[in-house]
Amino acid sequence: MNNESSKRVPADNPAREILWSIERNFEGWTCSRCEWNEPVPTLLNDPDAKTAFDRIAIGKFRKHNCAEYPIRLPSSGGESFTARIRKLVSKGFKPKDAVELVLQEASIEYPRQPKMLAQAQQEGEDFLRRLRAGLI
Ligand SMILES: [Zn+2]
Repeated sequence: MNNESSKRVPADNPAREILWSIERNFEGWTCSRCEWNEPVPTLLNDPDAKTAFDRIAIGKFRKHNCAEYPIRLPSSGGESFTARIRKLVSKGFKPKDAVELVLQEASIEYPRQPKMLAQAQQEGEDFLRRLRAGLI
């Protein structure tokens, strides 16, 4: 009856998350709390090689200590397509539908930017590949 307070999660310790980030000069995995990152090797096209890279990156992420890295500052760029897909999935969308929806949104948001559309497509494919591999 008086145990309520012991169940509270410490407010200064939010759960950290591994995030897929694509910025002007960076593409790869980052930590939601600190500047830890694992850039994707260039020319990594083979799906199996990508999955192997993801697996290693996630292993490194689990082992890293946020306290040893600078605190992550809010990024000036927008959300990655991956983050948007994940948000939809967490709301109950099927992964394939979520990818489809984000691709549709991208084609409306970036009507004359084939590069952005190609990126959305790639992120969608990577998302489904990681899901199949049991990585996320
Ligand atoms: Zn971290």
